[in-house]
Amino acid sequence: MVSEATRNVMRANKSSGTKLELTAEEVLGGIGFILVSGEHGWRDVVGCSPDLVHLESGVVVFVHGCFWHGCPRHFKMPKTNVDFWADKVSKNKKRDARNAAGVRRAGWSALTFWEHDFKTVGGRLRVLDRAFLKIVQRSEEVGEHA
Ligand SMILES: [Zn+2]
Repeated sequence: MVSEATRNVMRANKSSGTKLELTAEEVLGGIGFILVSGEHGWRDVVGCSPDLVHLESGVVVFVHGCFWHGCPRHFKMPKTNVDFWADKVSKNKKRDARNAAGVRRAGWSALTFWEHDFKTVGGRLRVLDRAFLKIVQRSEEVGEHA
């Protein structure tokens, strides 16, 4: 475990404590997920810095902004600097795929949600449902190996 002081430094250096992350915490906090966005110590555990984690079951959650991560439904290319944005979003998407693969290699489960998943009550319920199901699946898997 990392010390409280280290965690505070990590928190102070958050790249983005965004509204989306806080919303995700609001939705998933009730079933035990904690917001760890920007805590770089997670690189040693799952190879990247996820947005939320469920410690007891080993599930991490990524929440992706529809613009920055190139949502297939909502990404709209800006009118200017097209090359720059295309490159930026393509790199983000590649990194997202790499991160999720790394999490699985580390023996954890990864769930990815989009900004648009949190826009409606129905969407939030589906997020909660998927996350809860994943926790249950993980607990059962662990149970089988025990
Ligand atoms: Zn979207």
